[in-house]
Amino acid sequence: MNLFKDLADLLYPVTCPGCGRVMDRDIVWCSSCLTKIWNPRLINSSRTEHLQGCYTLCSYEGAVRNCIIEVKYGGRADRKQVFYPLLARFPYWDRLSAFHLVIPVPLSKKKKEARGYNQVDLMFEDWMKEQGKTYLPQGLVRFRSAETQSLLSRRERYENIRGVFHINKNLDIKGKSILIADDVYTTGATMEAAAHELMRAGAKTVMGITIASGAM
Ligand SMILES: [Zn+2]
Repeated sequence: MNLFKDLADLLYPVTCPGCGRVMDRDIVWCSSCLTKIWNPRLINSSRTEHLQGCYTLCSYEGAVRNCIIEVKYGGRADRKQVFYPLLARFPYWDRLSAFHLVIPVPLSKKKKEARGYNQVDLMFEDWMKEQGKTYLPQGLVRFRSAETQSLLSRRERYENIRGVFHINKNLDIKGKSILIADDVYTTGATMEAAAHELMRAGAKTVMGITIASGAM
């Protein structure tokens, strides 16, 4: 309803995460700040043993990096509004039309309770549902966190995360094409571990999508 939207804009103006300019809430990013981070692509060498590949929307830098960090570590669940317009602009959805099931990379139970939410749900769930996809927040379960991951080498990351993810035992994904959603793609170790478990459980194919990546 327009009246409600106008009132919301007046009371809680939406500002560009890069420069603070007041923006329409459907757009959020001003074009100059968007240009600095916008880099939609299939990440080079993101195809691994069990993952077909991984798409991403932005370079992991500047304002989008700040927003991701605020949602993850700063309790800023309200920041979810900056991600929706990015997903709406992503130009390669047609390449992912066969993927009807979307499963987020989960947090461990302990970490999710501490944070109050999985930031990946805040970023992707509304958008995916509006596109008619089935979003399964509990599709994968994480048995332990891998918090020290950032200190490890690429190979150590793959070792460290192996066996962390388990399919929800009530879920049958045999023959399904599945999209794994995550906030950031770094080495691909997390995506590969999640894809490995989904393929083991009978998925037909697994592809990834993230908001941002520092990888090429
Ligand atoms: Zn701006």
